[in-house]
Amino acid sequence: LFIDHPLAQGQGIALSSDQAHYLSSVMRQEAGDEILLFNGRDGEWLARIARLAKRNGDVVPERQTAPQMDPPDLWLLFAPIKKARTDFIVEKAAEMGAARIVPVQTDFTNSERIRQDRLQAHAVEAAEQCGGTYVPEVTDLNPLSRLLDGWDGTRRILWADEAMVGPAETLAGLTKGPWAILIGPEGGFSESERARLSAMDCVTRISLGPRILRADTAAVAALALWQAELGD
Ligand code: SAM
Repeated sequence: LFIDHPLAQGQGIALSSDQAHYLSSVMRQEAGDEILLFNGRDGEWLARIARLAKRNGDVVPERQTAPQMDPPDLWLLFAPIKKARTDFIVEKAAEMGAARIVPVQTDFTNSERIRQDRLQAHAVEAAEQCGGTYVPEVTDLNPLSRLLDGWDGTRRILWADEAMVGPAETLAGLTKGPWAILIGPEGGFSESERARLSAMDCVTRISLGPRILRADTAAVAALALWQAELGD
């Protein structure tokens, strides 16, 4: 369970209403049961549920079971699409260990608005699900042009480009990052965006194979290839 509170032995923590509901009604837990906690800073802790009602309760950390893990130095930049598919991208990026998830507004972005708080909550759930000790940060929607204006070239961009076909341009042989994967919207990038990205030294174009993938599939495919090549 993710809990935004310092974790230390014997220091009881009050559960939020949602957390108490989740533990009591969804997980069917009760006072005396053990649970694992993490807060993104103090590693993973075994804790005991000291008190649990439907909408409140307390847990007490007993011992640390895993040290704090550092997230891999990978960001995912993607143009939000339909709500359910955007949720899917955030969930999978969190599962596959992206440290930062950046929704970008491009010339052909389908969605003008995102609910950053909801996407961040999806990232927390995904991190809980896969037993990580950190939670990726989901940022607000950033215009791509502004993001590129302020881009620090030491973090290189892997631009997934469907126009780039051929095995020589896959992720095989990629050197250690920091990297940011960039996935376009359903309509792809505009000509001016393509020209801008092509002119940047820190951008590497990559192919995900000869098929044109849906943006959510492309995000998962690129993350998986990155993991296979550079994940630890
Ligand atoms: N506008 C394009 C078209 O209709 O031909 C398709 C865009 S595709 C649906 C959405 C995004 O997924 C692209 O901008 C790209 O980042 C990524 N993508 C999809 N297939 C890809 C592939 N085979 N290789 C690299 N990137 C791919």
